[in-house]
Amino acid sequence: MNRLLLALLIFLFLMLLVFASVALNERRKRVKLLRKLKKKSQEGKQPPIDRSKLLARALSLIKEGIVVMDPYGRVIFTNRFARELLGIDEKDIGKFFYQAIKDFDVVSMINEAFNESYKVWQEKKIKDSYVQVIFGSDMDEKVLLLIDQTPMKKYENLKKDFIANASHELKTPLAAMKISLETLEEMCKENSKALKYISKAQERVNYMEQLIEDLITLSLLESTNLTLKLEKVKVLPLIKEILNNVSELLSQKKIQLSIKIPEDAEVCADEKLLHAILKNLIDNAIKYNREGGKIEISFKQLKNEDEIKVCDTGYGIPKSHLPFIFERFYRVERSRSRKSGGTGLGLSIVKLATEKLGGKVEVESQEGKGSCFSIYLPKRCDIITTDL
Ligand code: ADP
Repeated sequence: MNRLLLALLIFLFLMLLVFASVALNERRKRVKLLRKLKKKSQEGKQPPIDRSKLLARALSLIKEGIVVMDPYGRVIFTNRFARELLGIDEKDIGKFFYQAIKDFDVVSMINEAFNESYKVWQEKKIKDSYVQVIFGSDMDEKVLLLIDQTPMKKYENLKKDFIANASHELKTPLAAMKISLETLEEMCKENSKALKYISKAQERVNYMEQLIEDLITLSLLESTNLTLKLEKVKVLPLIKEILNNVSELLSQKKIQLSIKIPEDAEVCADEKLLHAILKNLIDNAIKYNREGGKIEISFKQLKNEDEIKVCDTGYGIPKSHLPFIFERFYRVERSRSRKSGGTGLGLSIVKLATEKLGGKVEVESQEGKGSCFSIYLPKRCDIITTDL
């Protein structure tokens, strides 16, 4: 019995030994694995990131120029595009902007804006690029941004050339068609049926002529290098000239005119643009008026602006259409506009041209009663909007 007990004890002791050695082995393995992982993670660790270097490298890749200056005008940072465009050398960092920047015009621009908080110059040509130059300043730093507009400018030139060429190409055959139709009209005086068709063809030719004119005007207004000649323009003679050209239509429709403009009334505008604005408004006031209707053109001096108002007693415009009438090719009643030779571009020209002059256009209308279009132009001739 004792022997059996002894053998059992020895067996248990041996089992304990086996379990202990297996557990020890497992622990050793786990510790080894942990050490391995720790070593691996230490191997993968990078030195701390230099964020300013990374930012400088990223800024060198963009095609916009940046020059940062301290409050005294010393250059403290430039990116690659700015260095290339302004001829700044790496060793110029730390120098004053007038020493570092080699473009004389840009130096004078910074000089001019140095004490201002924000200034923008459109389309400055530097070397072969067209850039928008922005100067911004706060208490600590002054920043010059150069936004590359070269691709946009190229596209715009292409568009302008295309419209100019296409309109020229269309104008010549149209003129020939006009003359041929006039000759045909002469020849078919006795044939009323033929005259009807000739008159229809003449209407379409006139429409195409107007469409070409409007497209040329719109593309001119949209081009960023449109040069405005802002000056004091006398309003009454301009209105009289426009009315003279539409006198036939006015008498055909028996429209009564009321002009409430003082002899000496003047507005600050570019005469050609103002002519285009008023011509379109007066044309519409006639086109969309009833026979025997009225047109009133008035002038008013406000505090900071001058107002020219063209009112008619015509068909008016339904309220739901009012937000869209300044959009291109938008017509309230397509057939009425077509019949009167409308292209759907007149009011877009009015809006764009008024905005180019720094002003705005407003409309009030009542369906069946008539419409009033008012243009407001700033009094001061030196306010030119550059960001249109
Ligand atoms: P359109 O060449 O067709 O006259 P506009 O751009 O000048 O084009 O005008 C857009 C539309 O606005 C016109 O088709 C017309 O329906 C409406 N409209 C413009 N002016 C007047 C007005 N004085 N009275 C009524 N409707 C007008």
